[in-house]
Amino acid sequence: MKGTFFLGNQTFETRALPEHDLAADEVLVRVAACGVCGTDVHIYHGDKGSADVQPPVILGHEFSGVVEKTGAGVTKVAVGDHVTVDPNIYCGECHYCRMGKKQLCAALRAIGVNRNGGFAEYCYVPQSQCYQLSKEVPLAHGAMAEPLACCIHGIDRAQIRPGSTVCVIGGGAIGLLMVQLARLSGASRVILSEPVPLRREIGLQVGADHVIDPVNEPLKERLAQLLGVDGADVVIECVGNTAATAQAFQVAKRGTTVLLFSVPKAGTTHPLSLEDVYQKELTIVGSMINPDTHLRAVELINSGRIQLAPLITHHYPVEQVKEAILMQMSSQSIKVMVGNG
Ligand SMILES: [Zn+2]
Ligand SMILES: [Zn+2]
Repeated sequence: MKGTFFLGNQTFETRALPEHDLAADEVLVRVAACGVCGTDVHIYHGDKGSADVQPPVILGHEFSGVVEKTGAGVTKVAVGDHVTVDPNIYCGECHYCRMGKKQLCAALRAIGVNRNGGFAEYCYVPQSQCYQLSKEVPLAHGAMAEPLACCIHGIDRAQIRPGSTVCVIGGGAIGLLMVQLARLSGASRVILSEPVPLRREIGLQVGADHVIDPVNEPLKERLAQLLGVDGADVVIECVGNTAATAQAFQVAKRGTTVLLFSVPKAGTTHPLSLEDVYQKELTIVGSMINPDTHLRAVELINSGRIQLAPLITHHYPVEQVKEAILMQMSSQSIKVMVGNG
């Protein structure tokens, strides 16, 4: 039973996992697949994740696996069940939790951020965090439940209405999930802006109506041509650099909701035209993790209504977390998985 610990300073070490007797409500999950998230890349570079990171810790918060053992009081899952794990554990007692905003919890604990996570052969998780995955669904697809759940929260925040037009900026794993969720939410047209040809191709495959290469085509003009009006109703930024933020505001027309979904590098700022906010009546929305959306993500995955196979491009064994993180940073990859299967 081993896992790969993050030691800080961009270093990792595969070690034996500390074992303990299961608490009554605890489940031991044999990890099948754990996705590398943009947050892991930030943590690798020394930034904080959704919560503060104290190395040594096993990262990896997007995972699925098979229940290996259960504590005496576990009733929700049984040995052999396929599960996905919601990594975020809320205190339930702070001001934000009590105001119905658990995602803003002042004492958030997250599996794979500040307690050992899924870049390991096994992971200990409370049963409350486990969600049943259909056995017909590949386990690696179940590992996409967490990012999908985060995207669902973003989509809820952006309030896409039937008939809305949506422009997604960035066709990485998140952008490609957003394209699909926008369609499922009733968007009349979904346009993906993405410079990498392979990602544009997959964008069309998973349901984008049009794709634009923002490096070689004037994004705003192309969008205006396609939509017959000077921007989209909802713009979703999923890149995580300020050029993409600028593009998002560029393609906002009057009345647009701009969802700034990507996790920015710590300290990043962006100049905002306050005149535009006023005159265009812009709605600017942030989105943090996955409050009460994990079950909806699992339902969508179990139903087969979300295409995940084209998004999963690479697999690495548990011993190669660093290689996996470096590959996640490359434009050759979409979603990189870690796991010994
Ligand atoms: Zn994530
Ligand atoms: Zn709380």
